[in-house]
Amino acid sequence: MKLTYRKDYQKPSYKVEKIDLDFTIDPENTIVKNKMVLHQLENKPLVLNGQHMELLGVWMDGKPFDGFELTDKTLTIKEMPNDCVLEIHNKISPKDNSWLAGLYMSNGVFCTQCEPEGFRNITYYFDHPDVLSMFTVSIHADRKKYPVVLSNGNKVFEDENTITFVDPFAKPCYLFALVAGDLGSIKDEFTTCSGRHVDLTLYCEKGKENRLLHAMESLKKAMKWDEERFGREYDLDLFSIVAISDFNAGAMENKSLNIFNDSCLLADKDTATDATFTAIEGVVGHEYFHNWSGDRVTARDWFNLSLKEGFTVYRDQEFSADMQSKTVQRMDDVNTLKLYQFPSDDGPLKHPVRPDSFATIENFYTTTIYEKGAELIRMQEKIVGWEGFRKGTDLYFSRHDGQAVTIDDFVKCIEDANGVDLSQFMQWYSTAGRPTVEVFDKKYDDKSKTYSFKLKQYLNGIDTPFVIPLDMGLVSETGKDLLSKTLLFNQMEQEFVFENISEKPVLSINRNFTSPITLKITYTDEERYLLIKNDTDLFNRYEVGQEYAADKMVEAILKKTSVDEKVIDAFGSYLSGWEKDPTYVSRAILFPSEEYIGAKMKVFDIDAVSSYRKELRKSFAKKYEKELLAIYQALDKNEPYQPTPQKAGERALKNVCLGYLSFLPEYQNLAEEQYEKSDNLTDRLTALSTLINHNLPTKQKRLSDFHKMYDGDHLVINKWLTLQALADDDETLDVVKSLMHTSDFNIKNPNKVRSLIGGFSHNLKQFHRIDGEGYNLLSDIVLQLDKLNPQMAERMSEPFSKWKLFDKKRQDLMKAEMQKILSAEKLSVNVQETIGRILKEEA
Ligand code: ZN
Repeated sequence: MKLTYRKDYQKPSYKVEKIDLDFTIDPENTIVKNKMVLHQLENKPLVLNGQHMELLGVWMDGKPFDGFELTDKTLTIKEMPNDCVLEIHNKISPKDNSWLAGLYMSNGVFCTQCEPEGFRNITYYFDHPDVLSMFTVSIHADRKKYPVVLSNGNKVFEDENTITFVDPFAKPCYLFALVAGDLGSIKDEFTTCSGRHVDLTLYCEKGKENRLLHAMESLKKAMKWDEERFGREYDLDLFSIVAISDFNAGAMENKSLNIFNDSCLLADKDTATDATFTAIEGVVGHEYFHNWSGDRVTARDWFNLSLKEGFTVYRDQEFSADMQSKTVQRMDDVNTLKLYQFPSDDGPLKHPVRPDSFATIENFYTTTIYEKGAELIRMQEKIVGWEGFRKGTDLYFSRHDGQAVTIDDFVKCIEDANGVDLSQFMQWYSTAGRPTVEVFDKKYDDKSKTYSFKLKQYLNGIDTPFVIPLDMGLVSETGKDLLSKTLLFNQMEQEFVFENISEKPVLSINRNFTSPITLKITYTDEERYLLIKNDTDLFNRYEVGQEYAADKMVEAILKKTSVDEKVIDAFGSYLSGWEKDPTYVSRAILFPSEEYIGAKMKVFDIDAVSSYRKELRKSFAKKYEKELLAIYQALDKNEPYQPTPQKAGERALKNVCLGYLSFLPEYQNLAEEQYEKSDNLTDRLTALSTLINHNLPTKQKRLSDFHKMYDGDHLVINKWLTLQALADDDETLDVVKSLMHTSDFNIKNPNKVRSLIGGFSHNLKQFHRIDGEGYNLLSDIVLQLDKLNPQMAERMSEPFSKWKLFDKKRQDLMKAEMQKILSAEKLSVNVQETIGRILKEEA
């Protein structure tokens, strides 16, 4: 397996002055004519990337040319003139493109996904992000079959069967897009801050146009928000989004023509949950924000992927925070970070936010590049303050507009705009894993009225310190901040002393999760209660409770003691005043997940963790029965559905209460009643999952009712698949296997695979069956997928990376499956790299 190294980066040796692409669209025989105006920058051979295609001919300056060498991955010309026009014709078969990279077909619609390296499946070209060019695209298509034909930029010509687009902005080929199909659409418009009129069009499968309305509202909010918050105005007269059913990722920021997984775009009350509504707003924002952080300023190479992804995730998180609740958004984002990125950073697939090498960049669309990358941006904002940060991003966008740059270039702009030195900060970008910060020697001196504590940091024996901003507060007995400030902890060990502190305070630190660290701090029970009840930082009120519960849960599981009343009471205290912020309470009263607890144990004892957590939940339900019921009843309103944050929060809390109450026999009719009367998917789906989780009598009947109600509506049926895949039931493995043979499943469709197989591999007890059948099912799927779609095969194989968390028996079983995968013939580089790295992990 050949690795590519960051240190080997070389500047492009050719400039593509312009590229004309001409497509004659056909499912099996699409002809691509590619005409490039080339200028040599350095006397080196011309090497174009191209694969999975048939070469039809090459012309140089209009004359047939055969002075090239062809391999299955490249077309090379050793002797090149300084300037020339190179024309290449080739043939591809979109219908046979099952890897969903390049030009492929989804539900009869032609569409593209080129990031990171899909363009090389379309034609021979420099498939690197640092080669920017001006694209003109002509498409010839049978307009009866494909009335909607789209590409990047403005439409400049249209007749019966040809349409031409010109994109006025130079771009790398990973931002190229083409769509042709029979699609429905909705239209709207937006006027930018300087008065530019922008036509907005959203497309999807015919008949589902109403489900685009929420995305359209989200888009307009995002466009306005980016003007107000970041001073970023849209730069073309049109912007379009197309929803596609077969898509490897969530969505793609192609210039002026975003293409989305339909699961990230379509929503109405009957087919999407509140969580989906929120997610759509975030993803629509994310892809739109890429227009500046990604398209106008792009990345020099894929090692710098986080330049655009970390920054853009940070931007979409800020957007969502402004649209909903800042605190809840932060709680949810930190939860995602702790649940997915932290374990990845602690396991064999860990890598720095800016990696030094990879076999294929396709394997690096990870929570580390995205979510941890966003945290590193957030820390920089904290270090220089919001206004300084905005100066820095303004400088970045103006200094590098139209360029392909690196993370260093970004950080340099923050430095230059603020006169700060962030060189020590860069260790965050180059190091996998995260530092542990330990708080010790907390002291209050009554006489001198000083409070002090020390901090030390460590990570794998690294002896140079990370720069760690930490918001902190000293909380009085009555819950007032005696002091609050931001510390910059940038030594291995450091003491902090505060004077004029009138009474003995409790330290609240890393408020709002200022830095993505592991915090070690000891509190007495009283101190913890004080923070849970009174910290002025609402995030830390929640966070302290979560960490407290996690520690106590691990302790009790190891000691095999019974449920801890103190933890239950602490969580009970979140219930008071729930009317003020139901969304917050819906998150705060959830105990840490099984995965989170398990990862803290030397050996993840699945049965013990799972039954302890159930016990804890049941005890909470018993103790707070009255309160939970009162909340449930108060929120069980007979009012028409509204997707507003407030109403979604009320539903969230109501549904969490339903989950708790269903532990108690006297309330086990509630789920059935809720199912019966629900008028929206959120309530209906929670009722159904409650029936399943508590194994209630009507579960089978409701599963089949639900299927009848949504038959053929694949996005909803996918949720139905996931519910069954997640059921903690010894039959689940067989259920999953038989569902795979129904028309509700299709291994070629990534959403189906993620719903059923992805769901199952996160079913703690059933995936990790001690007979190894769960692992065996997964390895079979990975091997099947590998032949069709290596990116999906790799994604699906990732649960094996957790193997070292479990007991020896399970480790051996997983190891055997991984070895089986590795020994398969013609295994993709994607799966080879990931499974190879997992198996290399030390004992
Ligand atoms: Zn992105």
